[in-house]
Amino acid sequence: MKKLSARLDGLGTTIFAEMSALALRTGAINLGQGFPDQDGPAAIRELACAAIRDGHNQYAPGPGIAPLRRAIAEHRRRFQGLEVDPEHEVEVTTGATEAIAAALLGLVDPGDDVLVLEPYYDSYRAMIQMVGARRVPVTLRAPDFRLPIDELRAAVTDRTTAIVLNTPHNPTGAVLTREELAAVAEVAIEHDLVVVSDEVYEHLTFDAPHVSIATLPGMVDRTVTISSAGKTFSFTGWKVGWATGPADLVAALMGAKQFLSYTSGTPFQHAIAEALTLPDAYFADFAAQLRERRDLLGAGLAEAGFEVFHPEGTYFVTTDISGLGFDDGLAFCRELPHRAGVVAIPHQVFHDERPDGSNPGRTLVRWTFCKQPDVLETAIDRLRRARLRQ
Ligand code: PMP
Ligand code: GLN
Repeated sequence: MKKLSARLDGLGTTIFAEMSALALRTGAINLGQGFPDQDGPAAIRELACAAIRDGHNQYAPGPGIAPLRRAIAEHRRRFQGLEVDPEHEVEVTTGATEAIAAALLGLVDPGDDVLVLEPYYDSYRAMIQMVGARRVPVTLRAPDFRLPIDELRAAVTDRTTAIVLNTPHNPTGAVLTREELAAVAEVAIEHDLVVVSDEVYEHLTFDAPHVSIATLPGMVDRTVTISSAGKTFSFTGWKVGWATGPADLVAALMGAKQFLSYTSGTPFQHAIAEALTLPDAYFADFAAQLRERRDLLGAGLAEAGFEVFHPEGTYFVTTDISGLGFDDGLAFCRELPHRAGVVAIPHQVFHDERPDGSNPGRTLVRWTFCKQPDVLETAIDRLRRARLRQ
């Protein structure tokens, strides 16, 4: 009897599940999986409760409830100046995770090559594999994780059909510049590629503004942009995400989504429709708060002896552990809760191992700062006191 589909072979358990279970088992502070330890706005939470009480409890329409689709279109207009048709160019999904899955299932064929920025968010790798396509990594390297444009160009083959982009980038915290995005756009246009742009951290940039690649000339018709209410409003457990893009690409994505979940949680959609109308100050304050936490954790990690790479966006800061005498991030992260009572995530699982056995992320470790300052301070204190240097 066959026990495992080749489509799942080698994927294993997600690192987030492994490390969160470890945090629970050891009582360590979980700076691994990126979820805030404070819920989003109380008024929005109340709207979800009210939606349940008011009887919004049956299937939503497949593309999402109309008020949410309208709010998403308005949000695209307000923050990126894009005109999106809420009827045909928006698809509400069960988190960005489902949008990624549906985009890849709907737009990529077995045997296609898909370019993906490495380190890659783990669901890209899984979904590209499940689709039966080939992932072709383009590597962002420490210390500054800039896009190697020549390598991107060289990675295109005659089987390349799509680029999965992610900016602000998890796990490095890099925010692609307009120039980098223009280079991606040039490649996409020249080779007639679709771009699946994961922008779930669109509101979490700290140094420079977020640019959506769909706003670049020639890109709006070939880009699917993915967002997450979980990230933008600190309700990661609600699993509300969405994709916007031209009607034909969104229809392809919807063709897959309707057989993944059919439709996404109705009451949460009502609440997020309102959340998207929050004033600009909400979004600015949220980024400012995370910026302070980035600075707090970054300084603390440096004090504890790590080499710290400055993140321009997201929930995450990356460090190198080699200066402390360690050479394997996965082993380090599995041990860290026992040694120091803190959980982090190794980069190496977001990289492909090279034929010679090397891995560009071997000594890199990611920490999340989307936690309250006293939690971050306790974690820093534990790391300092653990005297990690070998
Ligand atoms: N993409 C990236 C880059 C992420 O960091 C996350 C966070 N989980 C997701 C997608 C998935 O988002 P969601 O929780 O909305 O499914
Ligand atoms: N995006 C979050 C992270 O990178 C959560 C990942 C997950 O739960 N799959 O930590």
